[in-house]
Amino acid sequence: ESIKVGEFARLINKPSSEIIKKLLFMGVMATINHEITFETAEKIAEEYNIIVDKEIKKEKEEILINDFEDDEESLQVRPPVVTVMGHVDHGKTSLLDAIRHSKVTETEAGGITQHIGAYTVDINGSKVTFLDTPGHEAFTAMRARGAQATDIAILVVAADDGVMPQTVEAINHAKAANVPIIVAINKMDKPNANPDRVKQELTEYGLIAEDWGGDTVCVPVSAKSKIGIDNLLEMILLVAEIQQLTANPNRPAKGIIIEAKLDKGRGPVATVLVQKGTLRIGDAIVAGVAYGKVRAMVDDKGRKVKEAGPSIPVEVLGLSEVPNAGDILYCVSDDKTARQIGEIRKNKERQEHYANTAKVSLEDLFSQIQSGKVKDLNIIVKADVQGSVEAVKQSLEKISNEEVRVNVIHGAVGAITETDVALAAASNAIIIGFNVRPDNMARQAADRENVDVKTYRIIYEAIDDITAAMKGMLDPEY
Ligand code: GDP
Repeated sequence: ESIKVGEFARLINKPSSEIIKKLLFMGVMATINHEITFETAEKIAEEYNIIVDKEIKKEKEEILINDFEDDEESLQVRPPVVTVMGHVDHGKTSLLDAIRHSKVTETEAGGITQHIGAYTVDINGSKVTFLDTPGHEAFTAMRARGAQATDIAILVVAADDGVMPQTVEAINHAKAANVPIIVAINKMDKPNANPDRVKQELTEYGLIAEDWGGDTVCVPVSAKSKIGIDNLLEMILLVAEIQQLTANPNRPAKGIIIEAKLDKGRGPVATVLVQKGTLRIGDAIVAGVAYGKVRAMVDDKGRKVKEAGPSIPVEVLGLSEVPNAGDILYCVSDDKTARQIGEIRKNKERQEHYANTAKVSLEDLFSQIQSGKVKDLNIIVKADVQGSVEAVKQSLEKISNEEVRVNVIHGAVGAITETDVALAAASNAIIIGFNVRPDNMARQAADRENVDVKTYRIIYEAIDDITAAMKGMLDPEY
């Protein structure tokens, strides 16, 4: 593998002159257009603290993104991000609504809040961000993708119902993610509310309330009567303070896609929770395979904003397509880089897709039949004369047996083309050619899509091959 000095410099975001100088020190005379080996590039990258990988594709993506660690001095306090979890019907949604409305003044965009997947409330000058999808499922789905958005979990337990199966699940999910739990004992307005029973039951799962000598913060609330909401918010700030949540706001933004959709008028719309740095209008961004430029941003109050800092959720317009929830968003140096990363990832995704869809081939026909993956052996026949097409078709279909049915799904005169390969890929077929060969495009397509293409000069050789492949599976015990 080798790479041009100029391109390498651009990839790692350093001036070419610097790279050329470093090369000189290494005893290599080079210009921008000089090719250097991978090993040399690796050594130079190392000096910049950038690790490159053997695979040039992966390496490019990583160099381009350059997600560096922030210095201690650059870190500033950021708002906590909170997820509400708990058993169904214990009041998660009601609590989220009560919190949202407790802090939205009538003057704020007419008191209307937009549902963008998350919202931020202001408590005497301190902010707290709530993720709007309650429950541990979304929380863990994101974690499975390597994205942890939540700093604190609010465990809602109904005071009249106590700890239930999903309460336990939520506890386990929060513990697995190492996220501190604050218990909101809800429905305190109910006459049969029994907070002590809840506390008692929670001890079984290692959550001991503070007034019982433990360190779990428990706050009695009523989402319905709006009791205890302020107290809960204060407790969140307290726990956040202990956690010392910080981020550097002065760097290119990194965030998590909370939710995303295709909007008829506005195109792909994604809610981003900024985690580091500040996202601004005009920034070049990538998120999964989507890329683009921040065209506009809208906050949770429906207001257009020009920038969003750490722990702030915003709707972002301007991506090329709809990313997945849990995708990481990065701000990169320029539009071209964003597009490049998007395309590298798209290619990778395509390759993985083809690698994962098992395509049938004569060589592994036997094992595929055995594993029950193949019940129909689809074949495309191409030949130089119509007589051969017909003869092959008839002989092949005769060799069907109980386990496998041989279907000639397409037969025609002429060379094997890209269209034949596309058909084969779509219907998991093998292509057989008599006195014809695949053209260049077809050969490339077959390689790309893992389609087995076999060419013969004599009909009975083809029949023998296929019969043998099938026989192999017919009498494994003999
Ligand atoms: P979720 O499934 O956890 O999101 O629960 P919901 O927020 O949908 O609430 C389930 C039911 O409990 C609804 O009928 C709510 O009106 C009711 N509810 C929620 N919070 C309270 C509360 O504090 N007091 C009373 N009495 N009912 C509540």
